[in-house]
Amino acid sequence: MCVRSCFQSSCLQWAWRTAFLKHIQRRHQGSHRWTHLGGSTYRAVIFDMGGVLIPSPGRVAAEWEVQNRIPSGTILKALMEGGENGPWMRFMRAEITAEGFLREFGRLCSEMSKTSVPVDSFFSLLTSERVAKQFPVMTEAITQIRAKGLQTAVLSNNFYLPNQKSFLPLDRKQFDVIVESCVEGICKPDPRIYKLCLERLGLQPSESIFLDDLGPNLKAAASLGIHTIKVNDPETAVKELEALLGFTLRLGVPNTQPVRKTMEIPKDSLKKYLKDLLGIQTTGPLELLQFDHGQSNPTYYIRLANRDLVLRKKPPGTLLPSAHAIEREFRIMKALANAGVPVPNVLDLCEDSSVVGTPFYVMEYCPGLIYKDPSLPGLEPSHRRAIYTAMNTVLCKIHSVDPQAVGLEDYGKQGAYIPRQVRTWVKQYRASETSTIPAMERLIEWLPLHLPHQQRTTLVHGDFRLDNLVFHPEKPEVLAVLDWELSTLGDPLVDVAYSCLAHYLPSSFPVLRGFNDCDLTQLGIPAAEEYFRMYCLQMGLPPTENWNFYMAFSFFRLAAILQGVYRRSLTGQASSAHAEQTGKLTEFVSNLAWDFAVKEGFRVFKEMPFKNPLTRSCHTWARSQSQWYPIGTRSYSSVPEASPAHASRGGLVISPESLSPPVRELYHRLKHFMEQHVYPAEPELQSHQASAARWSPSPLIEDLKKKAKAEGLWNLFLPLEADPEKKYGAGLTNVEYAHLCELMGTSLYAPEICNCSAPDTGNMELLVRYGTEAQKARWLMPLLEGKARSCFAMTEPQVASSDATNIEASIREEDSFYVINGHKWWITGILDPRCQLCVFMGKTDPHAPRHRQQSVLLVPMDTPGIKIIRPLTVYGLEDAPGGHGEVRFEHVHVPKENMVLGPGRGFEIAQGRLGPGRIHHCMRLIGFSERALALMKARVKSRVAFGKPLVEQGTVLADIAQSRVEIEQARLLVLRAAHLMDLAGNKAAALDIAMIKMVAPSMASRVIDRAIQAFGAAGLSSDYPLAQFFTWARALRFADGPDEVHRATVAKLELKHRI
Ligand SMILES: Cc1cc2nc3c(=O)[nH]c(=O)nc-3n(C[C@H](O)[C@H](O)[C@H](O)COP(=O)(O)OP(=O)(O)OC[C@H]3O[C@@H](n4cnc5c(N)ncnc54)[C@H](O)[C@@H]3O)c2cc1C
Repeated sequence: MCVRSCFQSSCLQWAWRTAFLKHIQRRHQGSHRWTHLGGSTYRAVIFDMGGVLIPSPGRVAAEWEVQNRIPSGTILKALMEGGENGPWMRFMRAEITAEGFLREFGRLCSEMSKTSVPVDSFFSLLTSERVAKQFPVMTEAITQIRAKGLQTAVLSNNFYLPNQKSFLPLDRKQFDVIVESCVEGICKPDPRIYKLCLERLGLQPSESIFLDDLGPNLKAAASLGIHTIKVNDPETAVKELEALLGFTLRLGVPNTQPVRKTMEIPKDSLKKYLKDLLGIQTTGPLELLQFDHGQSNPTYYIRLANRDLVLRKKPPGTLLPSAHAIEREFRIMKALANAGVPVPNVLDLCEDSSVVGTPFYVMEYCPGLIYKDPSLPGLEPSHRRAIYTAMNTVLCKIHSVDPQAVGLEDYGKQGAYIPRQVRTWVKQYRASETSTIPAMERLIEWLPLHLPHQQRTTLVHGDFRLDNLVFHPEKPEVLAVLDWELSTLGDPLVDVAYSCLAHYLPSSFPVLRGFNDCDLTQLGIPAAEEYFRMYCLQMGLPPTENWNFYMAFSFFRLAAILQGVYRRSLTGQASSAHAEQTGKLTEFVSNLAWDFAVKEGFRVFKEMPFKNPLTRSCHTWARSQSQWYPIGTRSYSSVPEASPAHASRGGLVISPESLSPPVRELYHRLKHFMEQHVYPAEPELQSHQASAARWSPSPLIEDLKKKAKAEGLWNLFLPLEADPEKKYGAGLTNVEYAHLCELMGTSLYAPEICNCSAPDTGNMELLVRYGTEAQKARWLMPLLEGKARSCFAMTEPQVASSDATNIEASIREEDSFYVINGHKWWITGILDPRCQLCVFMGKTDPHAPRHRQQSVLLVPMDTPGIKIIRPLTVYGLEDAPGGHGEVRFEHVHVPKENMVLGPGRGFEIAQGRLGPGRIHHCMRLIGFSERALALMKARVKSRVAFGKPLVEQGTVLADIAQSRVEIEQARLLVLRAAHLMDLAGNKAAALDIAMIKMVAPSMASRVIDRAIQAFGAAGLSSDYPLAQFFTWARALRFADGPDEVHRATVAKLELKHRI
């Protein structure tokens, strides 16, 4: 796919040499080891073998240890053990045989690792032809050194193989002198062996350069006056050597090889075509090589009559219609040639397949430098910075081209690029999906909801990265931008983000080399954020605030691509280890993408202006019509009308008056409904709950449900994020719902009347998120219509159920059924005659990993074997008609299709179920508290004791003040958690959710308790809702998870993120 490799110049490979030489020279000045500068006085180069010409034993060992599950570092440690007199060094001096060495060495390794270490297998690998192969870059360098008349030597610590031959897997003809430790009986760093080498070369120490990967060996050489180069990676070492010698060591066309057998093209017809094209008469040969890369579109280097050309063609065989679009590449490069964007000079597009088998185009070979390693090793920080600045500048040039002016206005669709891209990549990902990757699922939901509001449309490159650029050899200037295969019209910021991927990937990342493990400041490379800023500055744009979105999208795209590769590797020839490795990359990259989504959420959240400062004008529940219900108004704003710009999806909406106009209208409609219908009905509803008919639903509730439905006050709870098309609910955000839920929470009955009560809400959300269409049709619809009710059965009397992994109820497969057995309690709603569905959590596989043992089944309540033992009471309250039941499940047969998502997915589902539903109770608790405080205020104003109204008592005033403060604190935390859930998702809001669950029930208990106290004994009676509120607030310190569990979460996250 990449043409980058086509343009790597051979003779200019030493680009920036002047600068680089200076850099090296400066290093020399501070070092006594390097006394010579420049290249003229050197007459020989001496190479160590392992780690310089072939892979080092240490590197081979690392790979072998992983494959053989040997503790990492064992081999290296054992090699070094004993120093001069250890088995390895004695082996190098041929004091022991291979057999003797392996015996001693094996024992040592096994002692060190406390496991049996098959050292024979390591030794075979180390000496195998597969591993012991000379690095091509070194072969090339040696050829050039000798061509310049310098001598070469190898000075190696090596050993005799069992066949009595010394281990030297090199072409001996490459060297004038070979010095082997096993032959001489002396090892480096003994100075004698260096002297021996110099003697055989007939040179003074200062006339030679020595390359080794080990510090002590280099030190010994340097102390004799030999110039040294430490070899960490052969490519960089060769560059350093070039700088010392003063001539290039790479002369062929880099990254080319003889044309592969399957990729051969007819030379005669190509030559005829080129002669016609170039108008030349030549009888000379046509030289043809193939670039290593560019397998998607095979790419060839051609030399004909002193012309250096590149041919890029479609591959043979049947192709996907939109892939391998070389015509587009040709078109855009031709169009850009005169538009100030550096591109290779394209010569011709030939669509006649008879010439080389498939359509192709020809361009001129562009000499220059390509930096493959984005950390730019060997350069000075200022040079690195200059390279990245030049990269940024050329990107700005691409994005500044007027597509119309260069005839590319129809090169892609106009506008809506990101939404289209998101759709495309979601589709591609789904097509190659092999298992559920949680981060990908979250991104698929998140990306469409966070699309940038404004997008520019320009030409975009589509694969803009450092190694697609050819640089000038002597200055930081881009000579050509390559690989336009993915170019189109689109949002330019996608290119900017894409060119920053390397910032976040490790240097070992196999597909795209990165440098997240390097110190950018030290390297001099601008950080991604700065790179974005540079771009905006050059383009004259305001800073890109949402650049994290673009990073999230770019990594999502990369993850989708990797998933495709993984899928193909599963079906193709790749080994299972390789396939598994690729699979892990998708997950790794998707997690990176999600990290950016979270960052973007936090950014929006943090930068959110508090548009409507809290200025309370009044906060009263006016005198109630009955003792039970208030008919006042709650307002936190002195602003009578919120401006339409105060859309509730913008800032953190802390008062109902700041909601967007439609939601504000809904809020007021609900408030009116509460005042008109709900509060007045409370006494009757309460007496029904105390009557003998309490285990049947109250007809008044059913009547009020119809009214609420008719007024559109129905199913308000489903968050927009779970139901983006508003198929099932009102499509409110969590913050919008928080205000409405609080209002419903001021009455114990309103949630059910508006079909917004637990546990149905959680169960409905579960079905929306995870249910099959059949499950939705059967269970979700009746629940949404309010015709049925449901319960959730997890807690068990015999185990501590705050840790859900403890649950024991079994779900066993039997033919086409699952059979469940278990004992549950505290199952809210199970006694209600309308309850048709029990969402049951049990264990399908007690031997699976801890969080994969559980499964969720949809159990029809009329299935035989469900035995309700008794209703439980909370402080004596039964909470009829739903109640809280203790129940046994005895051989309950449930059809297999009632499993949700699949066996082992129970934990995942339970967490999803507790998504937004997790803070609904907290929202209602704020409602309880507001109502309690309003009732308290009304009471203390009218009640006189000891000659004055209670409200004039300082302690009462203090209680009122304290309650107000506590409610406001808790409400802000509820809203903040809801807001964060909207912006960054439920996972990112985990800390805030846990905090509010810690805070809200206790706060409500205290506020309600003060109200009860102010009421006197009446506060404990059922004449007021206070006692019931109090009971619920207390119970929620278990029902919504025990306080301690939330505290543990808060502490864990605090320690993890805020140290
Ligand atoms: C009114 C009400 C309604 C309920 N409705 C339902 C329902 O519909 N469905 C359902 O399945 N369950 C329901 N429950 C049960 C509720 O979910 C459990 O009570 C809760 O999960 C705690 O489990 P447990 O009672 O087994 O307490 P245990 O797990 O035995 O815990 C006991 C105590 O141990 C301490 N503890 C536990 N973990 C930690 C920790 N990490 N650190 C420090 N201390 C800790 C806490 O003090 C905790 O209260 C309801 C409970 C109530 C009160």
